[in-house]
Amino acid sequence: MRFQITVLPGDGIGPEVCREAVRMLRALNAYYDCEFQFVERPIGGEAIRKTGTPLPPATLDACLNGDAVLLGAVGAPEFDHLSGMQRPEAGLLQLRTALGGFANLRPAASFSAIADCSPLRRSQVEGADVLIVRELLGGLYFSEPRGFGEDRHHAFNTMRYSVEEIERVAHVAFQQAHSRRKKLTSVDKANVLETSQLWRQTVNEVGRLYPEVKLEHMYVDACAMHLISNPTRFDVILTENLFGDILSDEAAAITGSLGMLASATIGGTVNLYEPVHGSAPDIAGKGQANPLGAIASAAMLLRHSANMAREADELESAIEEVLEAGYRTADLVGPDFVGANRNIIATSAMGELVEQAFVAMLDRRFSYHAV
Ligand code: NAD
Repeated sequence: MRFQITVLPGDGIGPEVCREAVRMLRALNAYYDCEFQFVERPIGGEAIRKTGTPLPPATLDACLNGDAVLLGAVGAPEFDHLSGMQRPEAGLLQLRTALGGFANLRPAASFSAIADCSPLRRSQVEGADVLIVRELLGGLYFSEPRGFGEDRHHAFNTMRYSVEEIERVAHVAFQQAHSRRKKLTSVDKANVLETSQLWRQTVNEVGRLYPEVKLEHMYVDACAMHLISNPTRFDVILTENLFGDILSDEAAAITGSLGMLASATIGGTVNLYEPVHGSAPDIAGKGQANPLGAIASAAMLLRHSANMAREADELESAIEEVLEAGYRTADLVGPDFVGANRNIIATSAMGELVEQAFVAMLDRRFSYHAV
């Protein structure tokens, strides 16, 4: 069986971290009949340079015809003078819309080895493991009418949600909670917004189909506070587009570095996997980028698109093992590392170590089966 991954390295550190993520998926080809194949296409600034547009039709075609998309990052300072649809970032927005994924999954977990990188106290974050499920195609970012008044002295946006839009993302969140610790926190502002009242009512209805999952509702302002003061109380958080945008960035504080965070956008024609960070022009080309968010995105691809949950768990364990062994990219240098920087390694070295740990796990498992 062939599984075709469209790889979009993009700009800045995108190609550097993507390379390391692809390395993990390629390693699996030695163990399975299923063969991962990779088709690389330009997006963002790279695509503008090559074709004049941030999402060339050939890139979109490859994405729509493959089994999954793995993206690095887009955005380059040389295009900062451009606006709107001409910018590199527009390529990614167009791609997300074309793929139609409505559920954005963003895990934020604390690794004990790097808990001191978090701006929060170790005692607060240790053990935290939150998955935010954000509705991605509706709400304030997409609803009409929107715009400026004629005199440009006022502006307006609309928040609109239908029962169907809420139901489909709620099912994703309940399924995720069911496969984890069976707790779902649905976040809204039902004391003020009608869309939130519909949200709450619909989530309650969907919840009846998942009796094993414990459902609670929380106002978004309270959630913002609890996410910082007591992140371990959460398992899965389900919320709408705007609230999810803000809360998922806030949750990044749990992990301690933007470079650690992975994401998956699912539910559309083809799923999209990408680290949360941008193209980081300040460190691009220096070998300093942390590839672990991109590698963790590859693990999400294994879990959500390739039906390889066990391998996804192993890849995540390999990341943890390398961190436990004391290796760090420069962004992961917390107070415990001051003055002892000998284990600060480059992007590719981090990738190699994770691959070695991953392959060792696969070897152990396959040699066990062979006995
Ligand atoms: P950024 O995420 O690129 O960088 C923010 C800071 O985090 C920088 O100091 C950077 O060095 C650091 N950082 C980010 N990823 C890192 C990693 N993997 N390892 C180590 N350090 C890392 O955000 P920004 O600087 O606001 O934006 C830069 C460009 O990226 C802009 O053009 C922006 O539009 C674009 N962007 C793209 C995406 C995306 O492709 N999904 C997301 C956010 C921003």
